[in-house]
Amino acid sequence: MNRLPKLQSPAPTQATKPVHITADFAVGSSDVVLMAGPCSVESYAQTRAAAEAVARVGGRVLRGGAFKPRTSPDSFQGLGETGLEILRDVADEFGLLVITEALAVEHVPLVARYADIIQLGSRNMQHYPLLWAVGELQKPVLLKRGFMSTIEEWLKAAEHISSRGNQNIMLCERGIRTFETATRNTLDTNAIALAKQLSPYPVIADPSHATGRADLVLPAARAALAAGADGLLVEFHPDPANALSDGQQSLPLSTLPHFVTEMEKVTAVFGRTFT
Ligand code: PEP
Ligand code: MN
Repeated sequence: MNRLPKLQSPAPTQATKPVHITADFAVGSSDVVLMAGPCSVESYAQTRAAAEAVARVGGRVLRGGAFKPRTSPDSFQGLGETGLEILRDVADEFGLLVITEALAVEHVPLVARYADIIQLGSRNMQHYPLLWAVGELQKPVLLKRGFMSTIEEWLKAAEHISSRGNQNIMLCERGIRTFETATRNTLDTNAIALAKQLSPYPVIADPSHATGRADLVLPAARAALAAGADGLLVEFHPDPANALSDGQQSLPLSTLPHFVTEMEKVTAVFGRTFT
């Protein structure tokens, strides 16, 4: 099992194959995609406020967790199916698509009924039965990189999905654990650029979990787009100080228009647009 040389030697750059989420909306084109919303679905009003703000800036995808992988069992674990219902309801009201996490194999059929994109979390990147379960569907999947996983392990995890038939895969760099403690994780911009070279899958960046600090999300997002990311998964909350999860890294919804303006400046440099 000596695959490292393959990664170290320059391989021919792969063209990104767009993943069609709907007939008129794809990820991995010249359009860089925003997926925004709260870490967790907490209530109808909170999620609806996020959906309204995302729609107002022309965003297409609402994020929000209904099944939450929390470090402590005492933390908020998510609203489960009620959360999925809320997400679908408010997304439909504003004409948005939904991305949400499937935490366990038994949740996959349920999550697939409500979501347009199934998110597989960092802690589950090598949960092979879960990879196989989403691999049996044709529903688009966003595969987050394990925070202690190598790029090769990440790409191999994607192969577990594709080997079961589902090619509608997006990769998500969400920060890795390093020696640094000033930030929650370290955004691996190398990985964004290299994953774009080595795989045909669109690469999304999550500057929220990569930094763990609201004040670093914007600069990290700029860096991710400069490295070639095809989209951003970003946590926004109507009231971050009172969020039930990840409030410290969530941007207030009121800052979403400014965030989009800043991203448009970056994508314009690279001849891309931002949606
Ligand atoms: C999330 O997106 O809220 C999440 C739990 O992310 P990760 O799996 O990257 O920690
Ligand atoms: Mn979160």
